[in-house]
Amino acid sequence: MGFCLYLLTLLLLLCLCTAQWCYQKQSCADTCEDPSRWAVQFPRCGGLHQSPINIVTRKVQVNSSLPPFSFIGHTDIINITVKNNGHYAHFGLPPSVRLTGGGLPGHYRASQFHFHWGGSGRPGSEHTIDGERFPMELHIVHIKEPYRSLAEAERDTAGIALLAFLFEETAEDHPHLGTVIAALGRVKHNGSNTVIPNFRLSDVIPAAEDLRSYYHYVGSMTTPGCEQAVDWTVFHRMLSISSRQLEAIVEQCQFWTGQPMTDIYRPTQPLDGRVVYRSKSGAPQKSAAHAWISAFSALLVIVTLMH
Ligand SMILES: [Zn+2]
Repeated sequence: MGFCLYLLTLLLLLCLCTAQWCYQKQSCADTCEDPSRWAVQFPRCGGLHQSPINIVTRKVQVNSSLPPFSFIGHTDIINITVKNNGHYAHFGLPPSVRLTGGGLPGHYRASQFHFHWGGSGRPGSEHTIDGERFPMELHIVHIKEPYRSLAEAERDTAGIALLAFLFEETAEDHPHLGTVIAALGRVKHNGSNTVIPNFRLSDVIPAAEDLRSYYHYVGSMTTPGCEQAVDWTVFHRMLSISSRQLEAIVEQCQFWTGQPMTDIYRPTQPLDGRVVYRSKSGAPQKSAAHAWISAFSALLVIVTLMH
């Protein structure tokens, strides 16, 4: 009887372990699947429209029908629950935070946000631009209305809208990341959670008028099961973070294996014929200035002709 129980426990543990996935640097040998083997347990991870990707700027196509986004509830003061799910830290958002525009087919409600980061001194964004990896990446996950859960939305090819913000390292601290860093310090272990009171999403991300420039493509969730149901937006505008804040972030949490939670990003996936678009106002700032000068020159010509 005792031996049977022992055998049963051993089998259960084995099942639990093999069903787990991990990141490349977790090196848990035979007990979990790293990204190159995710598709063994989660077949969709081997699909053709996977994320993240490397964005090759000279191959990006301008799509003039991609409008700006409209943010709803981003300035509301909310309480958010932060949870360490063993793979990353998850920041729950209330359904009052919503999103439309940006070429999305409808209204989407926010579900959660999370970050992808590297290790001490190592960059850890998921998307790369012309092969460059950035220090950190913020993902805000939205579910298409009227779906009520991620599981429901994942069955629709445009069921999920993911907004991605890349970070650049600056000398100054980001003024509003302090509460996020402190919360990470309270969810060190797998399963632990905490609350950030009086949080405002607009403190972390810029206003919609500063986010008219973006890349857009169709892809997948970047963690198993890698559902191909995601409308991706990667903004040109980067968020700032100081090296001091980056160091504090990567040191805070632990994976479900007890190892330090570092290098939490999936390697970039093949594009497989997909096209990455950019919004028309996605041109670099100097081009905007150039357009202004052109308009001014045209005006001068008209005035000269009139005289
Ligand atoms: Zn993510």
